[in-house]
Amino acid sequence: MGINSHPALPEFEYVQPATLAEASEFLASHAAEARPFLGGTDVFVRMRDGFLTPKFLVDVKNLNGTNDLRFDPQTGLTIGAAVNMNRVVSSPEVRAHYPLLAEACQSVASYQLRNRATIVGNICNASPAGDTLGACLVFNGALHIHGINGPREEPLAEFFLGPGKTTLKPGDVVTSIHFPLPPKGCQGVYLKLGRNKLSDLSIVGVTALGYPDSSRPSGFCFRLAVASVAPIPLIVTGVESCLTDRSITPETLREAASLAAETCSPIDDVRGSARYRKEMVRNLSAKALAVVWEKLGK
Ligand SMILES: Cc1cc2nc3c(=O)[nH]c(=O)nc-3n(C[C@H](O)[C@H](O)[C@H](O)COP(=O)(O)OP(=O)(O)OC[C@H]3O[C@@H](n4cnc5c(N)ncnc54)[C@H](O)[C@@H]3O)c2cc1C
Repeated sequence: MGINSHPALPEFEYVQPATLAEASEFLASHAAEARPFLGGTDVFVRMRDGFLTPKFLVDVKNLNGTNDLRFDPQTGLTIGAAVNMNRVVSSPEVRAHYPLLAEACQSVASYQLRNRATIVGNICNASPAGDTLGACLVFNGALHIHGINGPREEPLAEFFLGPGKTTLKPGDVVTSIHFPLPPKGCQGVYLKLGRNKLSDLSIVGVTALGYPDSSRPSGFCFRLAVASVAPIPLIVTGVESCLTDRSITPETLREAASLAAETCSPIDDVRGSARYRKEMVRNLSAKALAVVWEKLGK
C-alpha cells in the first residue's frame, strides 16, 4: 500500500454541548470515541494524519467563561480556554503585566494560525515542544478544569505526564488557565530555535524569568523552563538555587546554563539530534539568562 501524504479528514460527528455539565457528561460516557476541541489546529492535523480517530468532536469553545480574558489587580490573570493567541498577544493587560506570555504566543507559527490556536489547546496537546508552556510554567499557571464531579483546579507544574499525556480524565474539560500576579519587577524572555523563522515547532525552547527578591542572598530569583528536550516541558529547579544562593556573575549564569543542559534528556528526531539539542540548551539558556539579567538593569 502506498503512502498517502495528503489524506482527507475522516468523517466525524460535531457535538456542541450547551453547558459544561453536558460536555463533561458526553465526554465521559463516550470516553473512547469523543474528544474536546478548541481551535482544532492540533486535532484536525492529527485526525487527517490518522493518529486520532474520534467519532465525536466536542466543541467546547462557547461554554461558560471560556471566552473571557480577565485581569484582576488583586488576584492575577485568567485566560479562557477558547481565547485565541492573537487575543492574548494584543491584550493591553497581558502586555503590561505578563509580556513574556505575549512573546511566547507570538512565537507560534503565523498570524493566521494564532487566530485559531489557543494556549489551553497548546497545553492539553501536551507536546514537549509547545511554545507557550514555558511561560505558563514560570508564571505558575493553574488550570481550571470541569469534570464529571464539577470544577477543580490543578497546578500546571503537575499536569504533564509524558508526550501527549496529562492528568486529564474522561469527562474533563479545561475551562481556563489562571496566573497569580507576576513577581514585582520581573523580566523574562523566550528564545526559540526552530528550523525556520515561521511555522515550525521548536528544536529547543528556553523561557527565563528573573526578579528582585531581597530575601535571597543574591538579591534575585530566577525560573528557567526548557521545551523540546525531555518527555515533558521542564522547569529546571537547580537553576533557582544556583542563582539565588550566591552572587550573580557571568560565571554563575554560565553554570546555571550548564545545569539546564545536564538536566534535560532530549531525543534524536527529524528536527535535531539529542547531542545538538543539549548544546543548544546550554547556549540558549546562557543567552536567555544574560538577556534577563541585562533587562533587570544589571
Ligand atoms: C501549521 C501549524 C504550525 C504550528 N506551529 C506551532 C508552533 O510554532 N508552536 C507550537 O507550540 N505549536 C504549533 N502548532 C500546534 C498547535 O497550533 C498548537 O498546539 C495550538 O496551541 C493548539 O491549540 P488549539 O486550540 O488549536 O487546540 P486543539 O487542536 O483544539 O486541541 C489540542 C488538544 O487539546 C485537547 N483539548 C482541546 N481543548 C480542550 C479542553 N478544553 N479540555 C481538555 N482537552 C482539550 C484536544 O482534544 C487535543 O488533544 C502548529 C500547528 C500547525 C497546524
